[in-house]
Amino acid sequence: MRLIPMLLLLLVVFSENSHAQLISRTADGFTLPVAPPEGAGFYKSRGFRAGGHLGEDWVTDGGSDKGLGRPVYAIGNGVVVLARDVRVAWGNVVVIRHSWIENRQLKFADSLYAHLDRISVREGQQISKGQQVGTIGTNHGMYPPHLHFEIHRDLSIGVNHAAGTRDLRSYWLPTEFIMARRQLAGGGRNVPTPSANFLLPTADHPWSLGHFWRNSKKSTHGKSAKSSSSASNHSGSTSQKARSPSTWKVNRYTDH
Ligand SMILES: [Zn+2]
Repeated sequence: MRLIPMLLLLLVVFSENSHAQLISRTADGFTLPVAPPEGAGFYKSRGFRAGGHLGEDWVTDGGSDKGLGRPVYAIGNGVVVLARDVRVAWGNVVVIRHSWIENRQLKFADSLYAHLDRISVREGQQISKGQQVGTIGTNHGMYPPHLHFEIHRDLSIGVNHAAGTRDLRSYWLPTEFIMARRQLAGGGRNVPTPSANFLLPTADHPWSLGHFWRNSKKSTHGKSAKSSSSASNHSGSTSQKARSPSTWKVNRYTDH
């Protein structure tokens, strides 16, 4: 009688190691990634804009310098599908795949946390709402300290904005998504979850880099780089270099 549960356990362990199926625990609600639940002491220096800035930048009140090293938290239960330094405009990035039940349907989305100073989770790790995933950073000195935060409807995006449409068909408005789903029924269930297969911007995929930078240059966000000392910018790094006596080292992308 005791042998059968043992065998079942072995089978479960074996199948988890085979990477055949990703599992995530459904969210019981979502919370802000900085100073949860209300984000006290932080504000959004830039919001989402279709075709431009595809997430939100969160900085501390009273100067973004103070944000460096502050904790960044998972917005909900999920499984870590990316946790590494992908360099270029991203730096240290964590992506968490979330499942939740809404209108009796199982839904999925990815949350993305970029420019981290440190990463404190690993790929494949199950994570709970409010658990720390890393700390706010500068992407190796490229930007003033801030959290760049996105939520993806399209699970193929990862760090490759060229993989989805650059609008609300592929993205959620991050804060609005969270505020509409503070408390969810049906949380805490383990459910089969699509595994991730992101294209990463490495030297092996130069076309991906090309897409990224071409799109960045089309963005108009560079215009705001001079006037906003606290707001940071992926796309403004080139124009900051040319126009602003910023104390920040910019565009280290070319340095490595
Ligand atoms: Zn940003």
